[in-house]
Amino acid sequence: MKIVVQNLTKTFPSRNKNTHEDVIAVNHFNVEIPDGKLIGLLGPSGCGKSTALNLLCGLLKPTSGKIFFGDDDVTDLPAENRGVGFVFQNYALYPHLTVKQNILFPLQNRKGKDRLSKKEMLEKAKEAAKLVQIDSLMERKPSELSGGQQQRVAIARALVKRPKVLLMDEPLSNLDARLRLQTREEIRRIQRETKITTVFVTHDQEEAMSISDLIVVMKAGVIQQIGKPQQVYDDPSNLFVATFLGTPPINVFRGQVKESVLYLGPDPIFPVEGVKDQEVSVAIRPEGFLLRENGALGCKRNAVEVMGRDITVVSTHEASENPTIRSIISAENREKVPSETVRFDIKPNKLFLFDRESGERLPFKWNEREEKENG
Ligand code: ADP
Ligand code: MG
Repeated sequence: MKIVVQNLTKTFPSRNKNTHEDVIAVNHFNVEIPDGKLIGLLGPSGCGKSTALNLLCGLLKPTSGKIFFGDDDVTDLPAENRGVGFVFQNYALYPHLTVKQNILFPLQNRKGKDRLSKKEMLEKAKEAAKLVQIDSLMERKPSELSGGQQQRVAIARALVKRPKVLLMDEPLSNLDARLRLQTREEIRRIQRETKITTVFVTHDQEEAMSISDLIVVMKAGVIQQIGKPQQVYDDPSNLFVATFLGTPPINVFRGQVKESVLYLGPDPIFPVEGVKDQEVSVAIRPEGFLLRENGALGCKRNAVEVMGRDITVVSTHEASENPTIRSIISAENREKVPSETVRFDIKPNKLFLFDRESGERLPFKWNEREEKENG
């Protein structure tokens, strides 16, 4: 089921007695979610993710804007008639019911012609349980299950109605690190198998990047960028998106463009054609540093962290906005890291320029030929 959201806005009355300003939790959302895809809705805590999801499922009424499922305008349709499955962070299982009864619950609630026979209901419950691999635990109570298993039951319960749309609000937050990884792979598999259009909310960029077909990055109620995870990582539209994606995080510097050359402090980095002389924010991915004896950027070495395949050079530079700069280089180069000043060349496709005030991306052209001659 394709979902189209047009100009969707939700404001809440102020909780702050001093300002009385409304909270705009979701601010003019425009997004088209293709049929059968898994969309990661990503942003920091409080940015409006849950509000957006609750609008999609019908638990909240929008202040303005429209929601379409396929060709149908569902903006005013009550939640129970939208055909959505919902999975919450805290499982929300009925503690006194068994796994089987929990999964059956949404089917037993059906009335009239939609009501299935007992046998049909049991078959559907079994099918859903199999899909999330808990079919051997049907007679247990939630308290007799691990967190990961409980969340699977919650997913089975959401799937048993064969929803047209599956909405998940931080479904992995209550799981420990290992289970989180395993369950997210599981969700990916289930989504691929069922091809149910899914919106997956998380504040964890790695989680969103790893399982989504598309990510929607939001901040303070406003969509910042929509795209395939790799595309958003490689081509962030503003400084917020650049810093929100990636571990370790991108390194941010104050820079200056003078006569089409980018400077970080005293160091000329490379020519940036098409950017007028100005102060800029510069962001360099940790993997964008090349260890070079005569490299353009001279940093003061703090530490070298060994991570197995790679090493991280931790250093400082006068133009850095962060206390330290983290550069990832191959472990083979460990012996080559000088003890005081470490010099790097920068890969142009791993460096982004942003307007100092607005944070908007400033595109530049770099001269590939010159790069090759120098390199
Ligand atoms: P997220 O899920 O990204 O953490 P939410 O959607 O829960 O964010 O909240 C977005 C903003 O809307 C926050 O500032 C939050 O305080 C506010 N908010 C959410 N629900 C309500 C409500 N029922 N009444 C007033 N403000 C709310
Ligand atoms: Mg939330």
